[in-house]
Amino acid sequence: MLLIRCPYCATERPEIEFRHGGQAHVARPADPSAVDDAAWSEYLFFRDNPKGVAAERWRHVHGCGRFFNCLRDTVSDRILATYPAGAPRPTLGAEGAR
Ligand SMILES: [Zn+2]
Repeated sequence: MLLIRCPYCATERPEIEFRHGGQAHVARPADPSAVDDAAWSEYLFFRDNPKGVAAERWRHVHGCGRFFNCLRDTVSDRILATYPAGAPRPTLGAEGAR
């Protein structure tokens, strides 16, 4: 079981208190009616699937209820960092290294 640190509650809590919310930092087009079908379907359906560090949205559903972002290594399943939604992705010194 993962222990995930909620950046708002500032405590590590068991994984069962959280819900995965997909890829983080996916920007909605500013004017959806101005993009073509390919760009719109790219926004709606296509997500990264990295082997290594992935930026993900999580929600502390059985805690504060807030969304936050998380850097997780998809190979080791280790949580590398959590940070508030809207904050820039932090730089990790050993990102990509195992
Ligand atoms: Zn929380």
